[in-house]
Amino acid sequence: MQSEGSCNLEPQYLTLDRLSWPELRDHMAEGTDLVLIPVGSTEQHGPNGSFAVDTGRADGFVTRLAERMYPRALAVPALPYSLSPHHMNFPGTVTLTPGTFLAVLEEVVDSLYRHGFRKFFFANGHGGNRPALALLMGQLREDYPDIKASWASFTSVASDVVMQGIESDTHGHACEGEMSQAMYLAPWTVKEDRVPGDVLEEDNEFVLRGAISPALKFDEITANGALGDASKASWEFGRDIIETALDRVEEYLDTF
Ligand SMILES: [Zn+2]
Repeated sequence: MQSEGSCNLEPQYLTLDRLSWPELRDHMAEGTDLVLIPVGSTEQHGPNGSFAVDTGRADGFVTRLAERMYPRALAVPALPYSLSPHHMNFPGTVTLTPGTFLAVLEEVVDSLYRHGFRKFFFANGHGGNRPALALLMGQLREDYPDIKASWASFTSVASDVVMQGIESDTHGHACEGEMSQAMYLAPWTVKEDRVPGDVLEEDNEFVLRGAISPALKFDEITANGALGDASKASWEFGRDIIETALDRVEEYLDTF
């Protein structure tokens, strides 16, 4: 561990938060060529977690990935605001509009592109961002023919591990899966007294399967803002999900 007052020890991972520009220039000259961008959100997580669950998970995931991929990868600061209009009936949630969100992400890429980076990986911690990130990939490919870009929700990358540990019929937000990840990656966002989701009845099987998607606010799906049962969350389950996702993403990025 770096002791207070010392600043000459080799960092274990590269992040703009800790680098000066000459240090970054030197690392780029020596081969740092991959930018890792954590995408979070500021949105309610029921009574089970703070507004920073997604940002903390995305940032923690990217920090660990940058550590594994040192010195090739550079972590940049997490984006704390994204697309959460469906959570706006819960006080405290902050959302961007889709055009703003896409513009911010493209301008982050544009800035780093102008400094010479050509490879970008977005680690997404918030389900509501998925459609926009899919659109962003097409847009980036159109506007910057010489870049490589990918995004992934790390929960999806390890969905088999997630499903092995989930007991609830309905899950996916402030649930045992998400709060376990938060325990592992961002424990300060996790509340001590965690409760099951207060899920409202839905009996159409195609809606339940996700084949039919009604326009709903989150309080029309769950009264307390949670799905699943976060009282079953554990640090060990979070570790299994995240370390599996890290293995898989790192393997993918090794040849990126
Ligand atoms: Zn979340």
